[in-house]
Amino acid sequence: MLKSCLNCGVEFEGASQARFHSDACRKAYARRELGRMDGREPGQSRTGEEVGQALSAHQEQLIRDAFGYAASESRSKAERDATARRITGKVSLPLTEEEYVRRTVAEALAYSVSIGETDAPVKIGDYEHTNRRTDRLRRAGAYARWRWAGFHAGEIASL
Ligand SMILES: [Zn+2]
Repeated sequence: MLKSCLNCGVEFEGASQARFHSDACRKAYARRELGRMDGREPGQSRTGEEVGQALSAHQEQLIRDAFGYAASESRSKAERDATARRITGKVSLPLTEEEYVRRTVAEALAYSVSIGETDAPVKIGDYEHTNRRTDRLRRAGAYARWRWAGFHAGEIASL
């Protein structure tokens, strides 16, 4: 099938999906398109900050077209982003009640430690307080279970 190269316009014999007459034209075209979308002249370099920015789906498709990803790399950008998040642990697993309670109690324990609270008796006025830390953790656990039930009954907007 006679085709016209998208980059240089030369006519060439290629498969129906072929768009460039050579690899060099494929790469040159992608470089120029990327530069154009950035609003700068071809060859003008990017700043470090810009390099760190996420590519748009269109930009990324251009790069994939130009540099020919392996056939296995056919997932969409959204799919690959999801995989990346999973690998880097940035996706939150569904929380169970036990895990929610455990975290809430752990936070309460961290707070208790941070203020120097213990279970040792402390006299405040005429009253001697004991088991302050244990009581705090018990209250935190009960509160977490109450919130969990309320959240799943639709009575509390968020955990
Ligand atoms: Zn060409």
